[in-house]
Amino acid sequence: MLERFGGCRWYASWRTVLPRLEYFAVPAALDETQVPAFLMRESFWVDHFNTEMAYHNKGNGNNMNLEKRHGGKIRFGGGLFVHTLDQLVPADEFYGTHPEYFSEIDGKRQNGYVQRCLSNPDVLRIVTERVKERIRKDPDAGLYSVSQNDAYKFCTCKDCNALAERYGGQSGLLIWFVNQVAEEVEKEFPNALIETLAYQYTRTPPSNIRPRHNVVPRLCTIECDFASPLDVSTLPDNRKFVQDIKGWSGLTDKLFIWDYTTNFQHYLGPFPNFGALQGNLKFFRDHHVIGVMEQGAYQGYHGEFAELRGWILAKLLWNPDQDMEALIDDFMKGYYGAAAPLVRKYFDELQSLVANPDIHFNIWFPPTVPWLTDDFLARATILWEEAEALVNDDPLLRYNVRKSSLPVYYARYKRLEANEKRDGEQFRSVAAELVRHFDETGPAEVGDRPIFIRESGNEEYYNWVKAASVPAP
Ligand SMILES: [Zn+2]
Repeated sequence: MLERFGGCRWYASWRTVLPRLEYFAVPAALDETQVPAFLMRESFWVDHFNTEMAYHNKGNGNNMNLEKRHGGKIRFGGGLFVHTLDQLVPADEFYGTHPEYFSEIDGKRQNGYVQRCLSNPDVLRIVTERVKERIRKDPDAGLYSVSQNDAYKFCTCKDCNALAERYGGQSGLLIWFVNQVAEEVEKEFPNALIETLAYQYTRTPPSNIRPRHNVVPRLCTIECDFASPLDVSTLPDNRKFVQDIKGWSGLTDKLFIWDYTTNFQHYLGPFPNFGALQGNLKFFRDHHVIGVMEQGAYQGYHGEFAELRGWILAKLLWNPDQDMEALIDDFMKGYYGAAAPLVRKYFDELQSLVANPDIHFNIWFPPTVPWLTDDFLARATILWEEAEALVNDDPLLRYNVRKSSLPVYYARYKRLEANEKRDGEQFRSVAAELVRHFDETGPAEVGDRPIFIRESGNEEYYNWVKAASVPAP
């Protein structure tokens, strides 16, 4: 009501718009029920874990800092979030006495981080008992995960192979196993949902078996192309994902998705995936997906267009049919003020770099990709400087503009670094701008200095500092 009729907005934890109005009016005949497109809506960007940001933008995901009085959330309980086979049947506890609980690979039962022998009745009994124990201790969560470890290394013993063959592959064996756990759980906890993964070697849907009504398979888009929506992209990985989700959606009306919405090697790198976000959410909605985790730069505040992406995703998770252009404009005006038209120009030009349907990108590409050109980045630098000049008298808007311009300096720096032009004045000055922008968009305003680039930690930052202080030749 406040958002729609009062013009209130929660763009970022440090940027809310609450207009002063003489009166607050709603249409007399207003009578409306909204049903969100997804039961679980998790814009998994760090600022959306914030309580106010989460509930004002209608999020209710597992990691959001929400309690019952905020409307609650959809939560994974009992410490069972993902890759839980290792927790439920620990190697330390069982391998010594029962190697037969563990994957047989090349004729030998394996120790270490492997899957479990799902056809073994004792494994089923142990998992079932332990899942129920954990639910008893934490019965109010909606979901409990019984899922494969984050590795291939599945069991190839005679019985596992026979079940996999009967049920159309490894996903069939897994569903056969998880269904039995879920059946037992339901007797004591009729509302608990058992989540499992359809991931890597289990992503292809099974045959001759379907997930029970209290089992929720979760598919992950980790291999996909994000230059265009999943069902539009011509990349074989995307075609395969589309085929898999269609298959699963024919077997169940409850799917979850773990989706990826940033560059996980370069949180600060330009990542023009806005052409994919809405199409993907519509596609999920149309294929029996009831929960989506949109994983973004969740470890720090410096992700590229983090506030825009986090906010847009929150909006689309409620209703993916909204006018995307209007949403982007709304955010730009509210978050960048007078600088909005120039930021929008940069944004549009960046998106247009990947408009060619032959261009694909995954979630790890380096800023040295050919479509991100030096010419574009040079123009972009000027655009951001001009944008900044328009909001110089407003510290908060200026902060937002300078923070959002970081990716341009980051991409320029990484390209110069890769080209081994490391001794030049240009390299030094780009590094200096990068450090300056990063430092001022850092901890004072938005919390502790984050781990901003996961793979390299803060070492990357000190490289910038070193490069910035190299004297000019
Ligand atoms: Zn086995």
